Amino acid sequence: MSGSALYETFARAPLAFERGEGSWLVTDKGERYLDFAAGIAVNSLGHGHPHLVSALKDQADKLWHVSNLYEIPGQRRLGERLVDATFADKVFFTNSGAEALECAIKTVRRYHFVTGHPERYRVITFEGAFHGRTLATIAAGGQYKYLEGFGPKVDGFDQVPFDDIDAAEKLIGPETAAILLEPLQGEGGIRSFPVQSLKRLRQLCDKHGLLLIFDEVQCGIGRTGRLFAHEWAGVTPDLMAIAKGIGGGFPMGACLATDEAARGMTAGVHGTTFGGNPLAMAVGNAVLDVVLAEGFLEEVGRKALLFKQGLAAIADEYPEVIEGIRGDGLMLGIKCSMPNGTVNGALRDQHLLAVPAGDNVIRLLPPLTVTEPDIQEGLKRIRGAAKGLSEAVAAAAK
Ligand SMILES: *Cc1c(COP(=O)(O)O)cnc(C)c1O
Repeated sequence: MSGSALYETFARAPLAFERGEGSWLVTDKGERYLDFAAGIAVNSLGHGHPHLVSALKDQADKLWHVSNLYEIPGQRRLGERLVDATFADKVFFTNSGAEALECAIKTVRRYHFVTGHPERYRVITFEGAFHGRTLATIAAGGQYKYLEGFGPKVDGFDQVPFDDIDAAEKLIGPETAAILLEPLQGEGGIRSFPVQSLKRLRQLCDKHGLLLIFDEVQCGIGRTGRLFAHEWAGVTPDLMAIAKGIGGGFPMGACLATDEAARGMTAGVHGTTFGGNPLAMAVGNAVLDVVLAEGFLEEVGRKALLFKQGLAAIADEYPEVIEGIRGDGLMLGIKCSMPNGTVNGALRDQHLLAVPAGDNVIRLLPPLTVTEPDIQEGLKRIRGAAKGLSEAVAAAAK
């Protein structure tokens, strides 16, 4: 696209959306798309959710922004609600996922600093990880495609193969400070760590005095049918980064910590201008009103099961297109038998939006508020795309 004033960092689809309603997006030409990308798990309650819209409008009439130099009641309230709902005792609000991870990494280093081990600063991560695009988080993610050309890799991150807990254990040394992982990898291709692995990682951290950090920026806030994905394993971290779904489309994130882990984060050592401002907090509180309401997460689980069963049936029908279905809750992946870009294009031709991921997977991340008819419509479109691709494969073989 020549003539654009924007950085060329995004290979954008030639689609411009003008408005959204629930799980649907409408282009400037009036065409309707079923949105199973949800801004990459950001639009947790779909588009134009009345409770979020009124929370934002009410707050906009009162106060948009004040500095963290003052009390922000909405921030205090959202912090308390996140603490009540999780392992955490303390919360720091940010504007994005990467900043939440930066806060977690800094919290780990400060913890070891104030407990007399400043030499402990290295963090072990897993292949396929994605933790953001800042200099430290591309080092944490360890993916060459995001590191190339950006100068010396930030020091302090060591990577082992996905789910190789033995390798992680071998790597632990006197400089190791923490282990960082997404319990369910998003960008890496919808890959989940088995419950046993999460339990072993918790034990390893306890044994060696390390902090365990979960990145639930994508898999948190109800995506898997529990408020946080790690709840399925019955294992709690010392620190957790969240973002995406907590804002429902308003940019925000948070780093959650135990009292012990946050020991070093005293007055003046960390800060943010925008993080936790009144507008963001009004929306974050409104998202929690909905997600924590009686029965909401059960309903996510019920709809997710329907969706996954429907997808499995399509995979059985068209193995030349779909190798298998993976993931939990409404964070599902189609492992493709042909290039995932081809499959994604065929889905878009059916006016269904999805997100390509690593490991030749297509991510399906519908809003948590997706209706059953929307799921049936989505399955119909996915079947249509698979059928078309299957026929094209058969024609090419003749
Ligand atoms: C999106 C994402 C991030 C980065 O969040 P940004 O808001 O883009 O900085 C970090 N970790 C995971 C798991 C993500 O999916």
